[in-house]
Amino acid sequence: MAKNIISLIKENGIILGDGGYLIELERRGYVDSGSEREKVGTGRGSGQFTPEVAIEHPEALRELHREFLKAGSQVLQALTFFATREKLTRSGYGAQTEAINQAAVRLAREVAGNQALIAGSVSRTQLFEREGPSAAGQVRDLLNEQIRLLQNAGVDFLILETFFRLDEMLIALDCARASGLAIMATMSFRPRLTESSDGHSPAVCALAMAQAGAQIVGANCEQEPRRILPIVREMHTAADVLIAAQPAAFRTTEETPCFTRMPQFPDQLETAQISRQEFLDFARTARAEEISYIGGCCGCNAAYIRAMARGVAAESQ
Ligand SMILES: [Zn+2]
Repeated sequence: MAKNIISLIKENGIILGDGGYLIELERRGYVDSGSEREKVGTGRGSGQFTPEVAIEHPEALRELHREFLKAGSQVLQALTFFATREKLTRSGYGAQTEAINQAAVRLAREVAGNQALIAGSVSRTQLFEREGPSAAGQVRDLLNEQIRLLQNAGVDFLILETFFRLDEMLIALDCARASGLAIMATMSFRPRLTESSDGHSPAVCALAMAQAGAQIVGANCEQEPRRILPIVREMHTAADVLIAAQPAAFRTTEETPCFTRMPQFPDQLETAQISRQEFLDFARTARAEEISYIGGCCGCNAAYIRAMARGVAAESQ
C-alpha cells in the first residue's frame, strides 16, 4: 500500500477512514466521560474523554482498531484525541503524555500492518474555550509538542479534527506544516451550522485551511450525515481542495444541531442513535459528489464503517 494519503486518494477516488473511538470505548467501560463528577461538554471540566486507555487497557484499543480494519477502514487513527499535555494533566495523566501518544501510534500500527495508513489525531485544546485567544501561545506550545511526539512515533499523516474555532485551527496548521507530514483538517460546527464558533463560514474555513497547508479539508463530529453534508458541500464549492466528512451518528435538531449540546449527551446518547443505513446512503452520496475521505466520528462503531464500505462499493458499480 502507498504510504501517502494523497496518492492513495488519487488511486482510489475515495478513502474510507475509521469510526469514533472515545464514545465507543466509553460505552465499553474503558474511557471516562466525567459525567459522574461534573457537567460534560463545556470544555471547562477536568479530563473528560481522555485517551489513557492506550496505556491502561491496550488490548481494548487494539480490538477496536481490529474491528475497524476488518470492516474496511483504509486509515486507522491513533487514539491521540485530547492527548495534549494540558488536557491529560486535567485527568491526572500529564506525566504520561509521551507514553500515551507513543502507545496509541504503536497499537494502531501493530493492527494495521501494511493494510492501512496511520493518522495521528490532533484536536482542539479546550484552552481557547476556557481562556479565549490569550491562550494562543500556550496552545501553540502544546500542539507543537504533541505533533512532534506523533511524528517521532511514525504516523503517516496528521488529522487535525474537531476544532470549533478557526483561529485555533490555524495555529494547529502552523505546527503541523512544520512537520512536513500530509495534513487533513476538519472543523466541527458548534453551536451553529453556518459558522465556526469564532464566526467564520464553512467556505471561509475551507479556504483558510487550504491556504494554511491542509491538503484535505472538511468537517467532522457534532452532526449526523444529513446535517454535515451541506457544510462540506459549501466547502467543496469554495475551495479547490480535497474534501473530507466524518459525521457523528446522533440525530440532532433544528434548535440544537450539535450532539454535544443536546440533553442526551453523554449518558443517554443511545436514544439519539441513528442507523447504519444512513451512513450507507451517506457514503454513496459522498462518492457521487467526489468527496475524497469519509469516515465516522462519535457514535460510529464497526457496523457503521461496514455500511459505508458497502455504500462506496454500491456507487461504483
Ligand atoms: Zn466525534
